[in-house]
Amino acid sequence: MKTIYVDNAATTAMSDTAIKAMTPYLKEVYGNPSSLHTVGQVAKEALDAARAGIAKCLNCDAREIYFTSGGSEADNQAIRSAAVNGARKGKKHIISTAFEHHAVLHTLKKLEKEGYEVTYLPVHADGLITAKEVAAAIRPDTALVTVMYANNEVGTILPVREIGAVCKKAGVTFHTDAVQAVGHISVDVQADNIDMLSISAHKFHGAKGVGALYCRRGIPLNTFIEGGAQERNKRAGTENIAGIAAMAAALKEACENMPANTKKLVKLRDELIDGLLKIPHSKLNGDRVKRLPSNVNMCFEGIEGEGLLLHLDARGICASSGSACTSGSLDPSHVLLALGLPHEVAHGSLRISLSEGNTEEDIKAILKAVPEVVAYLRNMSPVWEELEKGTRKHLI
Ligand SMILES: *Cc1c(COP(=O)(O)O)cnc(C)c1O
Repeated sequence: MKTIYVDNAATTAMSDTAIKAMTPYLKEVYGNPSSLHTVGQVAKEALDAARAGIAKCLNCDAREIYFTSGGSEADNQAIRSAAVNGARKGKKHIISTAFEHHAVLHTLKKLEKEGYEVTYLPVHADGLITAKEVAAAIRPDTALVTVMYANNEVGTILPVREIGAVCKKAGVTFHTDAVQAVGHISVDVQADNIDMLSISAHKFHGAKGVGALYCRRGIPLNTFIEGGAQERNKRAGTENIAGIAAMAAALKEACENMPANTKKLVKLRDELIDGLLKIPHSKLNGDRVKRLPSNVNMCFEGIEGEGLLLHLDARGICASSGSACTSGSLDPSHVLLALGLPHEVAHGSLRISLSEGNTEEDIKAILKAVPEVVAYLRNMSPVWEELEKGTRKHLI
């Protein structure tokens, strides 16, 4: 049976280009970039080249890129650093949204315990917030606004450029978790008014365990991993040269292919959305237009997302019911709840996240399997029986 992998928001396969770019640094070019001898300096050159390449894709200076172990670390460092530096000036208020990734939300929760105050802007039913709402929440003691570029579950693309402009005008540091955006939609830290931005290689066909933080010159950045002088004293530890070289190659490839990939993905995505919406009592989550080209997120009333996933898996289709972090727990996704979905509807969710490697045949197979499995599960569901009998009200 062929596997149809449509969980690319959780992680992607490495591209051939990225694997090719990383291979020399696993064996021949094994030097430590901090070493002064030739073997080390060759590795240092690779590190410099990767930094310059990534900076070019984001439209910033190479000295504004700090390599990390991934998106989570970049989020932690950016937010903690901005919080601590704000507190030094007596500013202990942070603005974010209710549907951020847990790397952001859990960092903020911890800061609240440490005496910071966080405003979580409510998300509209379409999975968006507005720059006006951010502006209205800014106070004289606001140190940081952190709002994601695109949501990892419902795929909505937030008005980051406008939010950045609001922050710039108010003199507030603006961080964005752009893990789902970079490599997928065009991101430009200058035009988008971004001060700090997190990326993760494995979301755009690079390797797991490597990412980067962009931090605009002039914005103070604190160190949280103590040790050597790597990353200009901001992040100790011998650099993951192989992973970093692969990340640079993957990002370059993703940016070069973006127009073609977008065109292909939007077509596949829209076929899926139109096809799945034919299932009675189904709903698309998140705005249909301001949406990542790869994302489909649906709810089907009267079923459990977990059951749907397992049956799809048995047919070779690998999807998700929410983020990789919430699967395995029985709580419905905090993102779907933030969009205002009732618990019982949020439980019946399905996220399909495509990559450019998916085909029309994949879409056909999914459009055959999902309605069959939904019908099968509804047939067994006591909740669905009540909905059909009219003793329980349809919510969607
Ligand atoms: C995957 C993801 C992260 C975490 O990145 P890792 O590299 O896996 O730590 C953070 N934010 C968002 C939006 C993500 O999708």
